[in-house]
Amino acid sequence: MRRTVTPLIPPAASSALVTAAMKGNRAQDTRPELTLRSALWHAGLRGFRKHVKDLPGHPDVVYRKRQTAIFIHGCFWHSCPKCKIRTPRTNSTYWREKLRRNMIRDRIVLQEIRRLGWRPLRFWECEIQRSRDACLARVRRSLNIST
Ligand SMILES: [Zn+2]
Repeated sequence: MRRTVTPLIPPAASSALVTAAMKGNRAQDTRPELTLRSALWHAGLRGFRKHVKDLPGHPDVVYRKRQTAIFIHGCFWHSCPKCKIRTPRTNSTYWREKLRRNMIRDRIVLQEIRRLGWRPLRFWECEIQRSRDACLARVRRSLNIST
């Protein structure tokens, strides 16, 4: 699935907010990730690995035995359908293209994960903030653990 893509040259950050967001994109162990992992731990859903490099998309949390791969997606970077965060007005062409590519990549990654026989679970940053319990319930269901 090699595709040739024109590299996108990031513009200089137009504001402190954008700078923070750009940093957030690179960072592992982002706040929603830490929140979810800590919740999983406290709920007894242990034995996961993080940032697994040998699976498509490098899932954030992985339960190998149950073949469950969890992706924690920032609402801005992955275009959360609920939050509908507006594209920054400055350098909007760049941002639109960047976010569009992220969406395409996400779709391909989820398909690939399924094709390999794994169950992908995607959690949005806002879901983790709002309803941690619902997120945990989804993980339990995927791991076939009844509460
Ligand atoms: Zn959201």
